[in-house]
Amino acid sequence: MIARVGDVVLGDGRIAIQSMFKRPLRAYDDSHLRRLRNMGCDMMRFSVSDESEEDIRRFVKRCEGLFPIISDIQGNVRQAVSSLDAGCAAIRINPANFGMNDLDLIASLAIDKSAAIRIGINSGSLKDASTQAVLDYFDKYIGFFESRNFRNLVLSVKSSDVMKTADLNKLVSERYGYPMHVGLTEAGGVCASAVRSTLVLHDLIECARVDTIRYSISSDERSEIRCAYEFLRTLGRRNDDFQMISCPMCARAGADTQAFGEFVEDFVFDNFDIRELNLKIAVMGCPVNGVREAEGADIAVCASKGEYAVFVAGERRESTHSADVFKDLFAAAVRSRIIGKSGG
Ligand code: SF4
Repeated sequence: MIARVGDVVLGDGRIAIQSMFKRPLRAYDDSHLRRLRNMGCDMMRFSVSDESEEDIRRFVKRCEGLFPIISDIQGNVRQAVSSLDAGCAAIRINPANFGMNDLDLIASLAIDKSAAIRIGINSGSLKDASTQAVLDYFDKYIGFFESRNFRNLVLSVKSSDVMKTADLNKLVSERYGYPMHVGLTEAGGVCASAVRSTLVLHDLIECARVDTIRYSISSDERSEIRCAYEFLRTLGRRNDDFQMISCPMCARAGADTQAFGEFVEDFVFDNFDIRELNLKIAVMGCPVNGVREAEGADIAVCASKGEYAVFVAGERRESTHSADVFKDLFAAAVRSRIIGKSGG
């Protein structure tokens, strides 16, 4: 089965990247939204708080052409109606706090608006989180929607426990056959979530449906999208290929590879859509590994004794002793390589 969330098709073999707005919608300017899109994000979700229907409508409009918006409803039917009326491509309901009384209205509206519904269960929100209780919820809610001939459904079942999440996803994926949104919940900070989420996703991608993923991280959207992108890119599940490598730094380092890596990423995401890139960038703190890495990268920088050298396609092009001038040289090299490769 497939589901359609705006212009994103779930179930066609491609795995969509999803993240969630961490702040109220009004906090995001257009350049920030564009950057999330450029980083490879396919869908964004927000939790409805004090936004009016008009606020949501305006926000959905601003995101047109970037990504569809999914509204997360906390047991409030008015929020569900406003979100669907405002043009959200999907709503997420949690059976633990969204009773069946209002489902009729929601199903008719979703049909009317061609919107999708995600039935998303978090085991932490259930009084009884046994496998049978989870399946009973899905049986009841999916059964209801199917009885209304509504099948534009996405399912998710999350927990903070790696093994439990993996087991439940396998079961739910096999039993119902609907597109699956996969991830952990309450997964922790960047390091904890990157490791734990990757374990779950890698296990499931081999043996269950994985149609859209989210790395839940106690951090900003950038970390979530970068982790998801790198996971899919490393597995060869993306058509694009934007790769950043950098040395881990040591006492020999003549450059802060972490800071330069972030600078490069910011420059790329502010100016280019990752979907159109095939680019490998290497940032090396000194020539020990730097010169060799430069040969295999589109763009490389290697720092030594206060001098920054920039390599393009393995050839040493420019060097400077100024960190600011270096940033300009590096940005120009990235731009020229991307535009040169795209034939522009
Ligand atoms: S490339 Fe140089 S600075 Fe970086 S880890 Fe290796 S020796 Fe250290």
